[in-house]
Amino acid sequence: MAGHSGTNGPPPGGHPFGTRLVYRSDHKPLETTAPETPAPTIDIADRVKHFLHVLIEPRSYLNAVYLLTAFPLGLTYFFVLTAGMISGAFLSIVLVGLLILLATIVAAWGFALFERELAIGLLGVKVPPLSLPDPELVSPWRLLVRHLGQPATWRSLVYLFLKLPFGIFATLLSGVLVGASGLGILYPIIKINVDGVSPQALANFIFPGAIALAGLAFSFHVLNAVGRAWGRFASQMLGVGEEQRQVWEAKRKAEAADRSRRELIMNVSHELRTPVASIQAHVDSLLLPAPDRPDAAESERRLRVTAAETRRLADLIEDLLMLARADSHELKVINRPIELAPIVDQVGRALGPLARAERSVTVSVEDLPANVWAVGDADRLAQVLTNLVRNAINYTPEGGVVSVRLDEGSFEHVQIAVSDTGPGISAADLEHIFERFYRADSSRTRDTGGFGLGLSIARELLEAMGGSLSATSQPGLGSTFWISLRRADPSK
Ligand code: ADP
Repeated sequence: MAGHSGTNGPPPGGHPFGTRLVYRSDHKPLETTAPETPAPTIDIADRVKHFLHVLIEPRSYLNAVYLLTAFPLGLTYFFVLTAGMISGAFLSIVLVGLLILLATIVAAWGFALFERELAIGLLGVKVPPLSLPDPELVSPWRLLVRHLGQPATWRSLVYLFLKLPFGIFATLLSGVLVGASGLGILYPIIKINVDGVSPQALANFIFPGAIALAGLAFSFHVLNAVGRAWGRFASQMLGVGEEQRQVWEAKRKAEAADRSRRELIMNVSHELRTPVASIQAHVDSLLLPAPDRPDAAESERRLRVTAAETRRLADLIEDLLMLARADSHELKVINRPIELAPIVDQVGRALGPLARAERSVTVSVEDLPANVWAVGDADRLAQVLTNLVRNAINYTPEGGVVSVRLDEGSFEHVQIAVSDTGPGISAADLEHIFERFYRADSSRTRDTGGFGLGLSIARELLEAMGGSLSATSQPGLGSTFWISLRRADPSK
């Protein structure tokens, strides 16, 4: 028996409530042969609580309202729909009959929509929509044709007719159960009001009142079960089927992908046109017959422009490849704990001298706290940071400052901030700068040579690392781009 009692011993570090009471009562946990079932007193108290709890649940009352009104509603549907169908069928040889049939279909659709709302609001069930949105359906005629072709339309019609027999049952049941318990509760109250307060009246009040209350709780349990069953039926009958929804979802995704592909082709062609035209014009001028050809200095200038435009095109192709990989989930980001200070430092060192020499912009890397680790891909992070610092340098006027700092951030996240003293970004542009091909001010940004892809790629890369990229700006004073990454523990 020892083994048996051993398994009954209190589990280390805490017990289920009932078991603890059993072991406390005899103080001999290891030798006890206490029954395996929890203490009955607790169980009964819990059960009574659970049984009576239904009285204070709003859902019970909503459910009762649904069942009580089921008969009048079912009768209304039955009357309107049968009257409409019969009179419409009889008069169908004349136009008015067809109009009646049409009105009946519209009424049935309205009833079904109303029933769907009732099932959601009063029974608390999830019901899929009766039809799925289709932007191509603009004319009422096509809408009607689709409506008639949908299985959900005919299912909901069957439902509306079944609501009458169900309504007779539901309203009768709920009327009898709730009515009887309600009377049982009300009667003693009325009696006390009429006869005045006396010990006898109070006894009459408490005892039958308590039974009536228990009766009401029992009624609610029964009615809730009926409501749940009917609710399940309603969700099957009043909404589009699962298969139809999946087909619709797949179609919607395919259309979105097709739209984005078309947009991409449009944008790329647009972006390619200017540099290609420029290259073509310059090369053509260099190929002119000797007398028309520009002199050596001008030829060299044109060659330099051609080389610069070619580089821009190569950059664009790199960016496009990166986006294509991201879209097809082939963008490889290897996430592991990385220390941030060396990466920030390396990017600052690489871009600082260039910024000073070319644009007289100072890149200042603030004191970097050591031992700040995050989850990410070191090379990709360096790529993102390079992009942000390059942008900051490009948009900062001569003599300005670009500063990069590493913030401890919060308990869960660390942040890298890249700030500049450039023109800033307006609130309207700030909402869009992370979108593909978006440039805040095309005339100004043309000089910077960007295609509006850098920030969207940077954001995708950071999101692949489980981080994020955001920006804040004060127009006229400068912008700050914030990289946020999940903090990592290098020891793990
Ligand atoms: P681009 O290659 O054109 O710079 P990005 O995606 O990197 O493309 O940036 C999108 C747009 O965001 C830019 O065209 C520019 O208008 C704006 N932008 C980005 N960084 C800055 C910055 N530091 N200051 C002001 N505007 C910026």
